[in-house]
Amino acid sequence: MSDRTGEYISALFAPEDSLLVSLREEADRTGLPPIAVSADEGRLLQVLLTSIGARRVLEVGTLGGYSAIWMARALPDDGELLSIEIEQKHAEFARRYVERAGLSSKVEVRVGRALDVLPSLDGERFDAVFIDADKEPMPTYLDWALRLLRPGGLVIADNTLWGGKVFDDAENDEKTRAVREFNRKMATDPRVLSILVPTHDGVAIGVVRT
Ligand code: SAH
Ligand code: MG
Repeated sequence: MSDRTGEYISALFAPEDSLLVSLREEADRTGLPPIAVSADEGRLLQVLLTSIGARRVLEVGTLGGYSAIWMARALPDDGELLSIEIEQKHAEFARRYVERAGLSSKVEVRVGRALDVLPSLDGERFDAVFIDADKEPMPTYLDWALRLLRPGGLVIADNTLWGGKVFDDAENDEKTRAVREFNRKMATDPRVLSILVPTHDGVAIGVVRT
């Protein structure tokens, strides 16, 4: 998608409030990597969560809390978002903005390596899982998502076009191979009905069949 397409959609459908603007500005200023979702993707997450009446959401990869705040704002008063983040510095930044957004009662940022934290959630039920962290374990994150989601729940994953590398035969590094494998599983696993939407860097969306 061209920048102008994204700008048009974001300006019309997903204008940021001052809190999200200052989050992004402080993130840039203090050296957080500029890899949060785009505003239009934030709105897409809200539309998806609202469409299934999501109450409990799991995020893998918090960074500064930008996507977490978009998502938490789409949850009901008793909603919960649990977000897993490996970097203490990112988690602290995110918690500060979650607090400023008045969302502390809904959002918990748990520090740890996702592959270590996910087993501790076994037996819990989520309405949606948003995968947006390291790429190598993505196929395993999908297995966990399908284990933790209710029927009719959503698995959503960011960066599934991986800058176009997934369809470039010359690219064969470990991350690219993992994203390809993730997409193949999403496309073919009979438990989930999926599509890859070519917005931002590619957002894969799958609904768990009932
Ligand atoms: N969802 C965020 C962006 C996440 S960027 C947003 O849109 O605002 C990816 C994040 O995943 C980074 O903060 C990185 O530190 C974290 N991460 C990377 N590997 C991880 C792992 N194995 N477990 C948990 N978090 C991880
Ligand atoms: Mg991302």
